[in-house]
Amino acid sequence: MRVTFASEVGPGPLNEDFVAATPDAVVLLDGAGTPPGSDSGCSHGVAWYSHTLGSILLASMTQSAGILAELLAEGIKTVSSLHDGTCDLAHPGSPSATVIMLRRTNEALEWLVLADSVLLLDVVDTGEPMAICDDREAQVGALYRAEMDALDSGTEKHASAHRRYVEILRSYRNRDGGFWVAATDPLAACQALTGSMPTDQVRAAALLSDGASRLVDRFNLATWREALDILDQHGPADLISRVRAAEHSDPRGERWPRGKTYDDATAAYVPFRGRPVAMS
Ligand SMILES: [Zn+2]
Repeated sequence: MRVTFASEVGPGPLNEDFVAATPDAVVLLDGAGTPPGSDSGCSHGVAWYSHTLGSILLASMTQSAGILAELLAEGIKTVSSLHDGTCDLAHPGSPSATVIMLRRTNEALEWLVLADSVLLLDVVDTGEPMAICDDREAQVGALYRAEMDALDSGTEKHASAHRRYVEILRSYRNRDGGFWVAATDPLAACQALTGSMPTDQVRAAALLSDGASRLVDRFNLATWREALDILDQHGPADLISRVRAAEHSDPRGERWPRGKTYDDATAAYVPFRGRPVAMS
């Protein structure tokens, strides 16, 4: 596979997204933030969690032909074992992450999507790309975000409403009726969306953290098809620069209310076949 990617930290100081690839595998994770002033029970932090889990998953995907969900469950257990002696893993705010795993075997392209990062698959002979994303967190969050969305981004009131929102959502994390992310419970892997398809049926794939997919699914400044076109013609860094331009144009969140004014943004693009030549 030919993989290009870009990842850009948002407010910083650490990029909690993670992306990495080999010639046959790509992983993208988006660490779920611990807002300033919130406790997590972990001295390592969200960036450590997403980068460590992502590195372990990429290694296991290249060394094992095992089922992706099983590799994810094992990876979650391995990361827990790295800090269960020093950190409180039962804390409801312990670090967590979304996960996308994409692997090419001899016959097929296999994927796993856990939580709200977006996998786009441009399937041969279809018009719109498939967008694979588990939006259960957004569904739960919609019940609780009105107060935060009514406040101007960048203000102390907004920051404390965001902190309250994140802490309320913690009580829905990794339980039935809530939403599922990689954290400390390996059973979360069973909740991931998985699938496979003959590789020759896929023209291209894209992996997006929600800081990058917001160009489409929050700002409505492009369709999924247009996002793929941007990635193909201009590359992942260009897509992220368009996200940043939109964020800068709305610093107070008046046009697009959002928890994070700026977010870590990551995009990976994997073209498998030449694109059809446009007929004029
Ligand atoms: Zn820790």
